[in-house]
Amino acid sequence: MSVALPGAKNFEDLSLLVSLHAGGYRQGPGGDAETRRAIDLAGLNWDPALKIADIGCGTGASALVLAKVLGAQITAIDFLPDFLARLQERAGVLGLSGLIETHAQSMESLCLTDASLDAIWSEGAIYNIGFERGVKEWRRFLKPGGILAVSELTWLTDARPDELETHWVSQYPEVGKASEKMAVLEKNGYTPLGYFVLPEQCWLDAYYRPLQQRFASFLETHGSSQEARKIVTAEEHEIILYERYRTFVSYGFYIARKVDST
Ligand code: SAH
Repeated sequence: MSVALPGAKNFEDLSLLVSLHAGGYRQGPGGDAETRRAIDLAGLNWDPALKIADIGCGTGASALVLAKVLGAQITAIDFLPDFLARLQERAGVLGLSGLIETHAQSMESLCLTDASLDAIWSEGAIYNIGFERGVKEWRRFLKPGGILAVSELTWLTDARPDELETHWVSQYPEVGKASEKMAVLEKNGYTPLGYFVLPEQCWLDAYYRPLQQRFASFLETHGSSQEARKIVTAEEHEIILYERYRTFVSYGFYIARKVDST
C-alpha cells in the first residue's frame, strides 16, 4: 500500500526498503491532482503565513505541492533521513527550499508546539501509528479550527472477498469503511469536511508501475539476495491483489476541521 515498514523486521530490511523506494516520486498511492483536491476541500488558499506539517512525508510528493500551491511554511517529517535528503534535493530544483524544513523524527513522538499548526497533512502514512491513535495524538498540535487531511486505506463496500479481507486485516487491522473513519474523526473532536476515494491511476500509474520498473535494478544492486527477493515478492502479491479487487479497496482522503474546544 505504501512503504510497508511494519514488514521491516530489522535494520537490513529497512535499508532495503529505503533502497527500493527512495528513487520514487512517491512512496504510496496518491497524485498531485488529489493533493490539490484535498487543499480545495480544506478551504485553504495561498497564504505565506500558513504553517503546515506533512507527517510521513517520504520524498515529498505532497509537501512540494503544498508549498507550491499555498506558499505555506511546511515542516516535512519522516523518520528516514534518506527520504528527507531526496525531498530537499527536489525542493531545491523547484525553488521551494525556503518554504520547507525537514525534521527526522518519529510520528509517535513529535517535537511540535501545541496549537501551532494551521493544517496537518499525511498521505499514506498515518497507518504506521494507526488512524485513531494518529488523529487523537496529533490533534493538540492544531490551532482551533485547524485542518487535518489524511489518506487512509479504506474499504469501498460493505462486504468484500475473503482473500482481500484476510490480506489487509493481517497487514493493517484498522482497515475500515469510510463511515467508520468519519465516526473516529467525530468522536475525537473533528468535523469531517470532505472525503473522496483515490482513483485507480493513483495506485497504478503513480505508484505501482514506477515501483515495478525499479524491481530489476533493485534486485541487481542487492545481488538478488533472499531478503531482496522476499520484498519484491511481497510487493508483487500486493499489486496482484489490488488489480484483482480494485473495486473493493482504495485509499480514502479524509479532510476534517478541529472542533474548537468549549
Ligand atoms: N507521504 C509520502 C510517503 C508515504 S509512505 C507519499 O505519499 O509518498 C509512508 C511514509 O511514512 C514513509 O516515508 C515512511 O518512512 C514514513 N514512516 C513510517 N513510519 C514512521 C514513523 N514512525 N515516523 C515517521 N515516519 C514514518
